[in-house]
Amino acid sequence: MTPDLTGEVTELLQHMIRNACVNDGTPESGEELRNADLLHTYLEGAGLEVEQYEPTPGRASLVARIEGSDPAAPTLCLMGHTDVVPVTPDGWTRDPFGGELVDGEVWGRGAIDMLNLTSSMAVAVHHLARSGFRPRGTVVYFAVADEEAGGVHGAEWVTAHHYDAVRADFVLSESGGLVRPSGSGRLVTLTTGEKGIAWTRLRVRGTPGHGSTPFGTDNALVKAAQVVGRIAAYRPQARITDAWRSFAAALDVSDEERAALLDPDRVYDACVALPDQRTAKLAHACTHMTFSPNVVHGGVKTNVIPDVVDIDVDIRLLPGETPDDVTANLAAAIGDLASAVEVTTLQAALPTASPFDSRLREVLEIVVRRTYPNASLVPRLTTGGTDLRFFRDKGAVSYGFGLFSEGVTFEDFAGRFHGNDERVDVESLRLTTDMWVDVVRELIG
Ligand SMILES: [Zn+2]
Repeated sequence: MTPDLTGEVTELLQHMIRNACVNDGTPESGEELRNADLLHTYLEGAGLEVEQYEPTPGRASLVARIEGSDPAAPTLCLMGHTDVVPVTPDGWTRDPFGGELVDGEVWGRGAIDMLNLTSSMAVAVHHLARSGFRPRGTVVYFAVADEEAGGVHGAEWVTAHHYDAVRADFVLSESGGLVRPSGSGRLVTLTTGEKGIAWTRLRVRGTPGHGSTPFGTDNALVKAAQVVGRIAAYRPQARITDAWRSFAAALDVSDEERAALLDPDRVYDACVALPDQRTAKLAHACTHMTFSPNVVHGGVKTNVIPDVVDIDVDIRLLPGETPDDVTANLAAAIGDLASAVEVTTLQAALPTASPFDSRLREVLEIVVRRTYPNASLVPRLTTGGTDLRFFRDKGAVSYGFGLFSEGVTFEDFAGRFHGNDERVDVESLRLTTDMWVDVVRELIG
């Protein structure tokens, strides 16, 4: 039996939130060294060997391993990021970096994304090591910097330069484990794949001139406005993937709405008609390549007609879609303005997916049923990117999981992720910590 680790995980999470490793996308931000040092000291206390990697000053990632006795047994990696996204303090009811425990909930940036999981993984591995656990397979704890800006100073770097330290057959990380009642029992989400990224810059060219005589001029900003309007109005062909089919089965919608959400010709209108905006956003993003024009730079002076305007568009690909599909969709969206637009890729990652059928999924289902009898796992696609793609690229079966209490709904989760008043209930921390311990024992013990 696992002793009650609730107090330990709550305290570690509070400490990690207070360390405020805020990643704003610049190389100097994050300073995950604070959380890495905290975890280092904590894990060493259980007698674990700990290795730290710091490719960029202050951007430390950490690996702790319990070596297996049987080289033929699989390796399981528990990966959590230690950075968090910035906050808008005005929108918060409490101090976003206070780590306060109020009415059974821990408040603060990272409480859901994903210091809750990173801390609970550490507590699980610490507990296993302290209790003298000698597994057949190896367990790797991997706490990474820089997930929130693409993993350049974290998982991407470590998997590229020190893969032997983290090589695994199975990897578990963030985004999953939400529980929803359904007719036949409960459904628990398992994130099996993620959309791809094609961050794209559209440079719109015009001809400079004097702002006092605009008649008949070739103004790059006026053309850019039209380009943005066309992209915003563009409707790419919808695609229904297997993961969406399974996930739609778990949505709290009527049978009629569900049927429409699974029909490529009706899904867009079904999203428009859905009363719940968050479900609509998710349904749309899981069935379409999405285009969001999010940054614009251009112009030099109020009295100068601009000749260059850059528009940065966040484009996300569904599994099965390629950069060629992005090119074709952009051409269709921009139409006859294409000759005025130069297209450059700023950052790209292909969509990745792991099979739903695997030994790890079987083990997760066995373990989840100890808490939620009759529960079934349902695969889902995440619309954002995670560090799991680096492991999927190397062939590891990689899922996003966790185990939440029934008090945390899809809507709560989606709203708190990068949102205001981020917080997690202590019950979910307890369930998740025990789940990691049980999964390790079951899979490689
Ligand atoms: Zn995250």
